Amino acid sequence: MSGKTTDAIVVHCIDFRLQKYLDPWLQKNIGHDNFDRVSLAGCVFDFYAVLRQVEISDRLHDINRIILINHEDCGAYGAEGNYARHKSDLEEAERKLEALFPHLKVKTYYLHLDGEFEQLSQT
Ligand SMILES: [Zn+2]
Repeated sequence: MSGKTTDAIVVHCIDFRLQKYLDPWLQKNIGHDNFDRVSLAGCVFDFYAVLRQVEISDRLHDINRIILINHEDCGAYGAEGNYARHKSDLEEAERKLEALFPHLKVKTYYLHLDGEFEQLSQT
């Protein structure tokens, strides 16, 4: 392994309320220095922004997996941001990314404001 490869790209929202949950969870589940990180308002709300970052991360760092974390009460979604909408957007993003990057595993999570990471992807 060269010094320029890493395990994962993680995409999560910019929301400050999540940070205290994200850092310990990422450290525990992926490792301290083993992922590229994208902080983007609404996470998969802007799929093409996510796609651009995944493409770069895959090309530069030879990643194995993509982790997408949407969350409860996301301001980027506004009033549309109910659980069903987040679930459906994450599923759609997972489907598209798996089709475009068949060598990468995609995992999706819905982060509750109490700190629970609910895994939505089946694998
Ligand atoms: Zn948000």
